[in-house]
Amino acid sequence: MQNLTNCPVCNSTAFIPFMKCKDNTVSRETFQIVKCNSCGFKFTNPRPEPSELGRYYKSEEYVSHSNTKKGFINSTYQSVRKYTLLKKLQLISKYYKTGRILDIGCGTGEFLNTCKSAKWETIGIEPDDDARNMAIKNYGLDVRGEAELKNLHDESFHIITMWHVLEHVPNLNERIEELRRLIKPTGIIIIAVPNCNSLDAKIYKENWAAYDVPRHLYHFTPADMETLFRKHGLKVFSILPMIFDSFYVSMLSEKIKTGKTNIIRSTWNGLRSNLSALKSGRTSSSQIYLIRK
Ligand SMILES: [Zn+2]
Repeated sequence: MQNLTNCPVCNSTAFIPFMKCKDNTVSRETFQIVKCNSCGFKFTNPRPEPSELGRYYKSEEYVSHSNTKKGFINSTYQSVRKYTLLKKLQLISKYYKTGRILDIGCGTGEFLNTCKSAKWETIGIEPDDDARNMAIKNYGLDVRGEAELKNLHDESFHIITMWHVLEHVPNLNERIEELRRLIKPTGIIIIAVPNCNSLDAKIYKENWAAYDVPRHLYHFTPADMETLFRKHGLKVFSILPMIFDSFYVSMLSEKIKTGKTNIIRSTWNGLRSNLSALKSGRTSSSQIYLIRK
């Protein structure tokens, strides 16, 4: 196990235990989330060594890396994904009609393939060999291993995206420095991460599926994201809600909590979470952060 001695956001050395969570998808092991005494940032600590993390991703149930259609939750996930792919393309098209895009943690390549069909020049980075090979085989995409990131040219991308990826990256600050190096002076970095300030996180507590320890190493709030990127000379200039995530995460959380799928209760909690985010802002289950230099 790797024990962080400094807060990845503010570098403070004082943390307090925040919550114990179980890995509900792969190992069933319990992990500690700590909270920084100075800035309040929450992170999984201790955490598996980077070389050990791979085995915590090996599960049929971990749908982000596969295309299984078994069960109601997974089939809903797949249908919603089709719709959200188009919404993501619309989002980047607001800033650039076309250009060079880098998707870090591109998985099996569905988003990049959507961009490629819209005439974008695409490059993907994906550490998982199986997912990377599927992206190459299914869509003919240019997808490379994580070590290739450092070989990409400075300021060569109009858009860089990380969809639910930053919370998985062991070397958080180095990765953000890399984003700053790679993005064009007028480019946009788009990062989606879960929000542990959401109502669904408060309802489900240690059963909230988006804590997803130990795969999720960090548990961001909007304020954490702003502080973290400011430290690297980058600015969060807009935050957008991801309204489907509250339903999806509530469905998974309900199952973790009770052992059963409860569509009515999870839909209700997903709806409550979205309504509360509408009222107070910045509290959606997952949010998209738009960032520039
Ligand atoms: Zn801190």
